[in-house]
Amino acid sequence: MDILQTLYNEIIGFLGVSQVWEILKTGNYSSFTTYEGIVALIYPIIPLLILLEFILGLVYKKPQTKVYKVNFLIYIFNRFIGRFIAIAMVVLIIGALQSYALFQTEMTWYWFIYGYIIWEFGHFIYHYLGHKVRLFWCLHSTHHAPEEMNLSVTHAHFFLEAPYADTIRTTVCILLGVDPALLFLIMFIDGTYGAFIHVGENLMKNGRMGFLNKIILTPSHHRVHHAKNPLYMDTNFCNLLNIWDKLFGTYQNEEADIAIEYGITREINSGNFLDVYFGEFVALFKDIARAPGLKNKLLYTVMPPGWSHTGEHQTAKIVRNAHLQQNIPSQKKVAKV
Ligand SMILES: [Zn+2]
Ligand SMILES: [Zn+2]
Repeated sequence: MDILQTLYNEIIGFLGVSQVWEILKTGNYSSFTTYEGIVALIYPIIPLLILLEFILGLVYKKPQTKVYKVNFLIYIFNRFIGRFIAIAMVVLIIGALQSYALFQTEMTWYWFIYGYIIWEFGHFIYHYLGHKVRLFWCLHSTHHAPEEMNLSVTHAHFFLEAPYADTIRTTVCILLGVDPALLFLIMFIDGTYGAFIHVGENLMKNGRMGFLNKIILTPSHHRVHHAKNPLYMDTNFCNLLNIWDKLFGTYQNEEADIAIEYGITREINSGNFLDVYFGEFVALFKDIARAPGLKNKLLYTVMPPGWSHTGEHQTAKIVRNAHLQQNIPSQKKVAKV
């Protein structure tokens, strides 16, 4: 009975319906119009879309079995360890740093916009470092391992990535005066939208979302981010507002003539949980063991993936620049779109 109860709780937890269920039980339907009620209604949207997308995959005979299998294992594994680490980290940082804030914002619409821009800045820093510092790439690469895209990829994360990401994002926001209540609202919106941008072709064939593609970061942009094509590598680090990508020169559109190839560039068995979860650590340890001298060993942990002590670097920047040099016509097209 205990196992059944645990299983039931886990399913309810995954679906995010527990708060809706509580409100329904009280019969007080008017509370759906309150902030808590609206949040309770938004929570189950992504889990239900995951299920719908999974079913559509079966209907279209594009089941993406490998991606679902590994992401399911990651979800279970992460449930056992580290679920609350990220939340604890956020609370800890707010407590420790709030008194050092440059100034303090309030819950108003204009401070909300300010807070969101600052949050995106923090997100950009964490995400950029996740791609450019080899040790952090070990944490982030789990998210990039899937070779097809669907909403389950939103659960594909190494368990230490959330605390590391939230440490950076929360520190930036708190020091730049974002009110904690505002921060939690932004985190909720960003968490939901950040999950949605992983919607796959089975549910949304064209991820550009019409004119929105020009204004905000769409699933199409995030598909580009998950691609290993030379042109697409290490671009589109933002989540919803892609102003920082545009400002720092990491913005990249999905090109009609360059089909996205999902995944990472090293040889990987993306159907193997251990390879997806720990493979980059193994690769890093091998490089460190091979490298001569302490300096080279240390450099492997902090330099971008693809850096080599022999000087034969294969970093994303080098690969992308080489591609742009060889494909000047397509570079022009990038500027035109
Ligand atoms: Zn990434
Ligand atoms: Zn992603």
